[in-house]
Amino acid sequence: MDKIRVRFAPSPTGYLHVGGLRSALYNYLFAKQNNGTFILRIEDTDQKRFVEGSVESLIKTLEWAGLKIDEGPYVQSERLDLYKKYAEQLIEEGKAYYCFCEPKRLEEVRNEQIAKKLAPMYDQHCLKNLNQKEIDNNLKNNCPYTIRLKIPKNEIVEFDDIVRGKMRIDSNTLDDQVLLKSDGFPTYHLANVVDDHLMEISHVIRAEEWLPSTSKHIILYKAFGWEIPTFAHLPLLVNTERKKLSKRQGDVAVEDYIKKGYLKEALINFIALLGWNPGEGSRQEIFLLEELIENFNLEKVHKAAAVFDTKKLDWINNQYIRKMSPDELLEISLEFFEQKDFFQCAKKERKEKGYLEKVLKVEQERLVNLSQVGESDKYFFDDELKYSTDDIRWKKNSDEETKKYLEDAFASLEQIPEEDWTREKIEEILLIKAGEKRGELLFPLRWVLTGQKFSPTPFEIAWVLGKEESLRRLKTSLELFK
Ligand code: GLU
Repeated sequence: MDKIRVRFAPSPTGYLHVGGLRSALYNYLFAKQNNGTFILRIEDTDQKRFVEGSVESLIKTLEWAGLKIDEGPYVQSERLDLYKKYAEQLIEEGKAYYCFCEPKRLEEVRNEQIAKKLAPMYDQHCLKNLNQKEIDNNLKNNCPYTIRLKIPKNEIVEFDDIVRGKMRIDSNTLDDQVLLKSDGFPTYHLANVVDDHLMEISHVIRAEEWLPSTSKHIILYKAFGWEIPTFAHLPLLVNTERKKLSKRQGDVAVEDYIKKGYLKEALINFIALLGWNPGEGSRQEIFLLEELIENFNLEKVHKAAAVFDTKKLDWINNQYIRKMSPDELLEISLEFFEQKDFFQCAKKERKEKGYLEKVLKVEQERLVNLSQVGESDKYFFDDELKYSTDDIRWKKNSDEETKKYLEDAFASLEQIPEEDWTREKIEEILLIKAGEKRGELLFPLRWVLTGQKFSPTPFEIAWVLGKEESLRRLKTSLELFK
């Protein structure tokens, strides 16, 4: 088999879309499993859509994701002469032509066609009406022009798509595509085909939205007499309401997910499953990048739209978080803690490594993304809890009874030596003390340790807070009964 060379060819329009990351990932996986080359090409020929800084952030995001680029980035705006040369070559060979029509005329033709319920298409005015002398004159007088591809009539354009199967398009439905714009920039179609040829791309793996362009590309390859690469168009991404993903209905930028504290392993894992799965007989859902390289199969990518379900992403992210060691989890969580007001306002000892590791230990099982750290248990950082005797009362217990149970809890915890201050020990001692009266003892205890009704067990809370702070909170609560 010839050498596998694939490319990810984003347009730098602001941020990396999750769909873009999927294209990059599938290209990367296919390259890696075939000993091939993964190329980055920046398609910035639409200057109106160009956003400053997006190339840098794109590269940073790909690096973050661990998708190492083997070659590039090639930047199309630095290769303009090349595209012009190829467009002119097609003119010489009679496969493309100059078009001097002004935008106003094109608009009128279009409106007329729409009014007649015809598909809008260029009417080949310049091809049919200009002789060579007129063309030369226009060029000499620097009249603005575009170069258009002469689409052959009455042909069926055919290609085999790895995902979509056999595709057949009637060339009569295709417009004479502009190849070179009046500003001297190539269109996407010309630059894309020229570059895929020059960069010896073997497989074009890209999103389904480019499928309608492919027939024009095939005509271009044929016009140049170039070998046609193999195509694979990846399925559309839709949200859980089966609508196209859009910024309005949630995050679509990879950067947003990074900011929210999704791990790269989880995001890559989730994205990999948007269009592919290991197939019948395998229930595996957790795949590290290396496992994806081993298991991914471009031939098995499905046609049906893939549902971008953030609940699934949450589940996968949580799976990865659960597996982390306290050290690792703290290391990646720290920057998220630091963004929180409750953290910044907390006492010094609440920001210490050992303390934070304990907080995370309690949260780890339930933590869905890192931006949630501390959110459900701010009481670990807030020493001024607010509650009333009514809040902490268990069922119909009186104030005296409530006070007695809190005193019992205090006495039990006080007798545990510092070095035995473990979750297990705390639980054991408190349960012995409570006997049959678990609710009576634990309900107010939880309240006074956390200032809320629901939380992880009071044993875990006391363990994190430490002996001194737990006793202090209990003591403070007893003041309420004076
Ligand atoms: N520049 C196109 C994009 O922004 C690339 C399409 C292709 O891969 O051919 O997605």
